[in-house]
Amino acid sequence: TIITRFAPSPTGYLHLGGARTALFNWLYARHHGGKVLLRIEDTDAKRSTQDAIDKIFAGLEWLGLDFDGPPVFQTDRAERHAEVAHMLLDHGHAYRCYATPEELEAMRAEQRANKQPMRYDGRWRDREPGPEQEGAPFTVRLKVPKEGETKIVDEVQGTVTVKNEEIDDYIILRADGTPTYMLAVVVDDHDMGVTHVIRGDDHLNNAFRQLPIYRAMQQIEGGWNDPVYAHVPLIHGSDGAKLSKRHGAVGVEAYRDELGVLPEALFNYLLRLGWGHGDREEITQAEAIELFDLDGVGRSPARFDLKKLQNLNGHYIREADDARLADLVAAELATSGTGDIDRELLARAMPVLKTRAKDTHELTENARFLFAKRPLQMTDKAAALLDDEARVRLGQVHDALAAETDWTTDGLEATTKALAERLELGLGKLAQPLRAALTGSTTSPGIFDVLALLGKEESLARIEAQAA
Ligand code: GLU
Repeated sequence: TIITRFAPSPTGYLHLGGARTALFNWLYARHHGGKVLLRIEDTDAKRSTQDAIDKIFAGLEWLGLDFDGPPVFQTDRAERHAEVAHMLLDHGHAYRCYATPEELEAMRAEQRANKQPMRYDGRWRDREPGPEQEGAPFTVRLKVPKEGETKIVDEVQGTVTVKNEEIDDYIILRADGTPTYMLAVVVDDHDMGVTHVIRGDDHLNNAFRQLPIYRAMQQIEGGWNDPVYAHVPLIHGSDGAKLSKRHGAVGVEAYRDELGVLPEALFNYLLRLGWGHGDREEITQAEAIELFDLDGVGRSPARFDLKKLQNLNGHYIREADDARLADLVAAELATSGTGDIDRELLARAMPVLKTRAKDTHELTENARFLFAKRPLQMTDKAAALLDDEARVRLGQVHDALAAETDWTTDGLEATTKALAERLELGLGKLAQPLRAALTGSTTSPGIFDVLALLGKEESLARIEAQAA
């Protein structure tokens, strides 16, 4: 069976690139009926935080990405990593390096001066420790084959080849006996049964350094087959530079909190960011599971496009269940101090509110008039509209609507139109002041929908408050 994994380092929030990596791993596993695992790579104790771990879990859950089994924490497995390092050592695939930090610094300085590539020169590769090394600290380095080349047939990048002489004998166990990241990833992927490594293409170089561990362990005990690699191009900002904080909201939760994005919209957007199926833009989770495969992943970096995300978001808002949207909007209204929210009214208003919103914040703003307290706060434009003439019109509208027996969108439209005809006025002459009086604004859903939603008593009270 196919086993993929998402292996974030908890050093910050779940950013867009990480979320997309998680999504691709999740979809690949779900599409093939495999498993997707979660591993928290928390070995960098200085930079890993519990807050970041919590944010990663929350972000993944919000996006609807579930994992097969509890998360693995890399630090919990340090003993196992060291065990593998010692196996490599015992079988001659790794060696002890006694070079001191000062010595290595001098080596690098020389390489820098000679404009040579800066990499460990293998000075302990074939050297036996003498009596002076007795009890001295050492690191364990991988003995990477120096002949030939390593070829990766990457599912996204195609065939990539690197000369083995370019791969340094890097450290797998530090002087204090702790494993390095490079070793931990390979041991964990093997032990977790990972068959497919799908990750950002900033890790492609690491793949060439990680493969020698698989190959050495394969020789030692077997069962360490190379994983299939798929290195996905990174996400770039609209300016073409690698996506960073500079490009605005980068944590997944910021897309929800600051941009009012629905999870299914971000899911769909992330999917389309680097993966395509013809020119389809709108793809649901179920369709994505059915359609996703690695051949649809492009080789060039995808560009983040906020407009596209917003368009998708508008689409998913229109598709979303009204009661669910009412809950979201009620929560947003509550945080901005609007108490006493009639959920039922909110849900009933949703069909008209959601046709014009591209994010949940807009939806909330558009809903605000429903719960406004009299006297309504007016925007400058609305206030300017309510001149003497408009107030006289509002009085006339008030009287006509007070006699209304059919308080429905259609009934109210018919009555108001009849009044406009009787007064020999364009409908706008009545509708504009009406909108200002009812919503405090010059933009709102259709005015007859507004009247119907507010109900007779509240509508008449709002109109009367502004009428001459
Ligand atoms: N922990 C690494 C990162 O967050 C990913 C390692 C991997 O996917 O192999 O960049």
